[in-house]
Amino acid sequence: MAKLVILEFPDERLRTKAVEVEKVDDEVRQLVDDMLETMYDASGIGLAATQVDVHRRVVVMDVSDDGSEPLVLINPSYTPIGDDKDFLSEGCLSIPEYYAEVPRYLKVKLNALDRNGDAYELEADGLLAHCIQHELDHLEGVLFVDYLSSLKRNRVAKKMQKRHKQTQGA
Ligand SMILES: [Zn+2]
Repeated sequence: MAKLVILEFPDERLRTKAVEVEKVDDEVRQLVDDMLETMYDASGIGLAATQVDVHRRVVVMDVSDDGSEPLVLINPSYTPIGDDKDFLSEGCLSIPEYYAEVPRYLKVKLNALDRNGDAYELEADGLLAHCIQHELDHLEGVLFVDYLSSLKRNRVAKKMQKRHKQTQGA
């Protein structure tokens, strides 16, 4: 397994739309393993392939307290169950140390393939539902700061650029 480099906002590559995985083969499984390692190492609860500059529809997640329930989503899609939305404070491995509340559907139905290429269906609510919507946005090139005002988003972008300069200078 190998740890991958996570792209950080406002990197334009995060805006790339991911393409469907045609076949779940060993190469895809390797990507899944590397993404899980990268996500756990960064103490994240979700990671989309877009964030590691691989533009295929692959997501990994684990919303359990002890990191014991890895979830693999290949070619995922969701449909909202009902119209109700709520706000939860969200963060993102591509936007370190920034959190904001964004509206998400309370309940969703997820359809995806697992690491063996088998289709599954899952009803999710709470944190898992939020996480699914956040990660699937990544595959479309959408970030949670896109739900904020452009004023706020620009402020976050500036903060991140400053942070990158500091890290590079160190
Ligand atoms: Zn994210």
